[in-house]
Amino acid sequence: MYACVLALFLKFLELNAKNVKIRLFNGSFLILTLLILVTSTYSSNAQNSYSKNYTVKTVVIDAGHGGHDHGASGKRHKEKDVALDIALKVGKKIEREMPDVKVLYTRKTDKFIPLRERAQFANQNNADLFISIHCNGGSTTAHGTETFVLGLHRNEDNLKVAMRENNSILLEDDYNQHYGNFQPNSPEAYIIFNMHQSSHLNQSLDLANMVEQEFTGSAQRRSRGVKQAGFLVLRETAMPSILVETGFLTNGNEENYMASNNGKEKLAVSIFNAFKGYKKKLDDEAARIQAEKIRKQKEAAEAEARRIEEARRKTEAAWAWPALRHHHRKGEYYFVQLLVSNSYEKGPETFKSLDNVKMDYIKLADSWKYMIGPYDSFEAAKAAQLKAREEGFRDAFILKYKDGKRSK
Ligand SMILES: [Zn+2]
Repeated sequence: MYACVLALFLKFLELNAKNVKIRLFNGSFLILTLLILVTSTYSSNAQNSYSKNYTVKTVVIDAGHGGHDHGASGKRHKEKDVALDIALKVGKKIEREMPDVKVLYTRKTDKFIPLRERAQFANQNNADLFISIHCNGGSTTAHGTETFVLGLHRNEDNLKVAMRENNSILLEDDYNQHYGNFQPNSPEAYIIFNMHQSSHLNQSLDLANMVEQEFTGSAQRRSRGVKQAGFLVLRETAMPSILVETGFLTNGNEENYMASNNGKEKLAVSIFNAFKGYKKKLDDEAARIQAEKIRKQKEAAEAEARRIEEARRKTEAAWAWPALRHHHRKGEYYFVQLLVSNSYEKGPETFKSLDNVKMDYIKLADSWKYMIGPYDSFEAAKAAQLKAREEGFRDAFILKYKDGKRSK
């Protein structure tokens, strides 16, 4: 595409050099053309990357933390365990109700997995969606759910959550080797995050909103909303991705709720419902795009059929009609053209006064050409022309044919 733009650009320069007078006009035209090309290239690329994701064939469910990485802790329960239980429940519901979706888990047991490997796992499996499930930690009064998408944190609280979750990398061996000089506790390190995931932001936000809506609806949790912050686990994923904080383990009431089977079940149902809604939205959109594609193909086929028909008519019209029906006739003969009409209403009724003459017509493009004949001699044609003029066809004239073709 860009090579094409460049070629056009060079062609314009060449043309402009040849014609100095129109340089100004071409110059502005050139800028406009380039702008349109660049804009359409950009939007078509954006459309492509978006439409590529118009389905969820594979989802990665990521239970946060694991092994020696406990995550947040309540009085009795650890984040790694609660998150795993909820994650497994979500996955099981998808497997059971949506068998066409492949569910992959970053972990199904109490195992430590580095953050970067979680994202790599999703990327390597060409996942269409990445859902990371966590539990929050904070003050004993803080409570509620929040769902994050990758981005620049808008406030310190969001940053704190990201920092806390990213601290997992400090439990990895040689983390410096894998994350460069990224310091999870340094606010400055988070400036890099706005460059990643932007192409998936809309879809990630869609799902995040659905999750929070479900939490307040079916699970009757307090939602702290959809937020953006710099999560390492989301940063490396090449697909729409969210990180769900299902509640605060540091809050006694929420810890009890999240640790209960009923609580885990409701939280899992919420995430599952949101997933279902998200997939449905994508599938509907894919169906709409497909229908639109079929409509456009049909339109193009119809336009092509019209073009072929028009070309056929023109070819037919270019024939020295009535050679079409008389083109095997040898020698000289004549027709008298009475009129050309754009409707067939001026059909036989119009010509009934012309007794004993042959009447014929040709559909020429969008009009009908009425002629009488053929006559073997010019005299016979002349007599027919006179009679036609007497009958009101004042413009009747004689056409001469030879061997099936119009002649002079
Ligand atoms: Zn966590």
